[in-house]
Amino acid sequence: MTQAVLTIDLDAITANWRALAALSGTAEAGAVVKANAYGLGAEPVAVALRAAGARRFFVAETAEGVRLRAALGPKPEIFVFTGHMAGDAGAIAGAGLIPLLNSAEQARRHLAALPGAPFGVQLDSGMNRLGMEPGEWAGLAPGLLEKTPRLLMSHLACADEPDHPMNAAQLATFRAMTDGTGVPRSFSATGGILLGPEYHFDVTRPGIGLYGGAPFAAARPVATLSLPVVQVRSVGAGETVGYGNTWEAPRPSRIATVSSGYADGLHRALTGRARVFADGTPCPLVGRVSMDLMGIDVTHLDTSPDWLDILCPAQGVDALAEAAGTIGYEMLTALGARYARRYTGAAA
Ligand SMILES: *Cc1c(COP(=O)(O)O)cnc(C)c1O
Repeated sequence: MTQAVLTIDLDAITANWRALAALSGTAEAGAVVKANAYGLGAEPVAVALRAAGARRFFVAETAEGVRLRAALGPKPEIFVFTGHMAGDAGAIAGAGLIPLLNSAEQARRHLAALPGAPFGVQLDSGMNRLGMEPGEWAGLAPGLLEKTPRLLMSHLACADEPDHPMNAAQLATFRAMTDGTGVPRSFSATGGILLGPEYHFDVTRPGIGLYGGAPFAAARPVATLSLPVVQVRSVGAGETVGYGNTWEAPRPSRIATVSSGYADGLHRALTGRARVFADGTPCPLVGRVSMDLMGIDVTHLDTSPDWLDILCPAQGVDALAEAAGTIGYEMLTALGARYARRYTGAAA
């Protein structure tokens, strides 16, 4: 079967984890593998990271944690950002997950259903997304701290903007909420790690940096996406390509139709903006991105290519995301289920 191939370099992911662990200084680096490890495959990625030394993993949802536990075995800690949701006690206990309790309601639910089971606490230091507010925490802290949470955490809203005053403001709030508790603390994702040691505390939570994306500029690229050419046709000057006739050949052209489209996460917004590469030679996308297919102008190539790359050394995740008007996070997590995912590297 010929289908588009997403190649994931597990050695690059573990090298990025080691680099971010080194940048985390005395803090331990965890690993965020939510959303199927940002689209790249939670199981193989987490197993490779565990072999590299990661001991604490973070997911968004209980269901992700359950699948991760099956892949990782009993030892590593698995924290769940959405905490203890209604009806999840059985799954949390069964998989030995650590919910990061977000509210008084979640704390009550957890302690009632699973007294003695481990938990962490997520605190809101200003982002207003998840976590207990300072006033709420002040009331609950005495009771919860007595039960020795595994982790107190919060999340930065503007960590990818090092000069943003929000960073220092959230740091001060987090310190005021957690100083003197003696509980391990976690504050920084990839962006926060780069802000410096006062942001690191005990455990860091890198996600995007592991997968080769900004703001970790020194990241090794992780993903290569190669699209098979289905057919190549000659198009006369003045003929059009694709839905809506939006592209008209200015000269006799050769157009390759590749298999992949917006159903595979190559957003329709890439129309007129993206390029693919034939062994490093750029070729423009022409006509609208359709659900399963895209047109590529290959007139300038000496030979008709069998494959064209849309993620490659010449065009990384962030460059492609910019062409789509989005960020690397969204580009990666949108990469489609139809791709054959191939893993390379020692851990593969
Ligand atoms: C997604 C997420 C992370 C990882 O963030 P990156 O920017 O990808 O490193 C860390 N912590 C929380 C709470 C998150 O939601």
